[in-house]
Amino acid sequence: MTSNDIPGAVIAGPALWPAQAHVPSVLGRQLVIDRGEGSFVHTTDGRRLYDGTAGLWHANVGHGRPELAQAAYDQMMRLETYHTFARFSNDRAMELAERLAGISPVPDPKIILNSGGSDAIDVACKLARRHWQREGREGKKTIISREFAYHGLHAFGTSIAGLDFNREGYGSASLVPETVRVPLHDADAVARTVAEVGAENIAAIITEPIQGTGGVNPPEDGYLEAVQRICRENDILLILDEVITGFGRVGSMFAAERYGVSPDLVTFAKGVTSGYAPLGGVFVSPRIWQAFYVDSPDTPVLRHGATYAGHATAAAVALRHLDILDDEKLVPRVAELETVLRTQLDGLAERVDAVADVRVGGFLGGVTLAEGLAADKVTDRLVDLGFISRPLRGGTLQISPPFITTDDEVVAFVAAIEQAVVDEANR
Ligand code: PMP
Repeated sequence: MTSNDIPGAVIAGPALWPAQAHVPSVLGRQLVIDRGEGSFVHTTDGRRLYDGTAGLWHANVGHGRPELAQAAYDQMMRLETYHTFARFSNDRAMELAERLAGISPVPDPKIILNSGGSDAIDVACKLARRHWQREGREGKKTIISREFAYHGLHAFGTSIAGLDFNREGYGSASLVPETVRVPLHDADAVARTVAEVGAENIAAIITEPIQGTGGVNPPEDGYLEAVQRICRENDILLILDEVITGFGRVGSMFAAERYGVSPDLVTFAKGVTSGYAPLGGVFVSPRIWQAFYVDSPDTPVLRHGATYAGHATAAAVALRHLDILDDEKLVPRVAELETVLRTQLDGLAERVDAVADVRVGGFLGGVTLAEGLAADKVTDRLVDLGFISRPLRGGTLQISPPFITTDDEVVAFVAAIEQAVVDEANR
């Protein structure tokens, strides 16, 4: 009864199509979360699990925060939202943008708001091309990204994906034409690629400061500065994708500060609300926005917008969430947690044969398993032990707990990872 050529029966399952899943492998064993408190979540079948990934790297202030529910309630009782097209705006979106401008990794920014990280990436890439088109340099369209990069899955994010499987199946090498990938850590390769493609054809280089889904890959010393230098020397825009790293995850508000780079565009999402409302956006530098703010009938219009751009309830939640980061001093706390995590992971690869490598950058860790060991089996074992991790590229386990976690919980999580790896290796 299948309508394609794969032998086998079609399995009936719940109406919700699981994201990023080999569907038959997950049906019947889905972990359905129905409640969260702090660093823990509960499943509908009665498990209580430590959220060692903060969901998809988003739940930084932890789950079940009444003050954020209250902020959403209060805003909805006044105004759910109003759009921000043309003459219209709403007070919460305006207020959030001012607040974000005050902590921006880009000096004197304008801020474009939308609904998440993939949205933000599409805006940043469109804006990079639009910038050069407006300057009369229409040739500058190519976007260079890194191997194993993840920049969401809208049209541009799909097209610049460094994880090839995310780009495949849409009829050409990339959905949006003129994208190029470079190796992960190699600044010389970036310079060579720029020379080959020609600076006159390149709009932007985009990079995650610490690559997340690609396996938690912090930048090698000097890498981001070198890429920035190449951008400056060749009149190429630098886009930093801080969807994971933004709002404290690396122990500074943004990774741009920690690594001393000054990008032209910075994308953010997740950590702006810790997931209490879908929100993302882009910090835009004056070099790009000023042309759209000139007092002249000839000033161009950026033809971009969305119904929920600057959603008032999402903005109200973000404002309250930024208070929490400040009031509870969570960003300096992340710096402490990074040290705890480093101490726990130190020597793990030497001690345990089944661990090939360990990396830490901010409060983000990656544990890469030795060849032959299946990361998804290890994460299944971890669930049995009461902990959530996630398999990333290259057999790597994700470590990114909420910022409100305790030192002891981090110690317990790393111990559980070690146990799960050893259990699986001995199976
Ligand atoms: N960029 C990076 C670096 C990400 O990690 C993600 C999401 N994991 C995205 C973009 C896309 O964000 P979203 O899932 O909110 O669309």
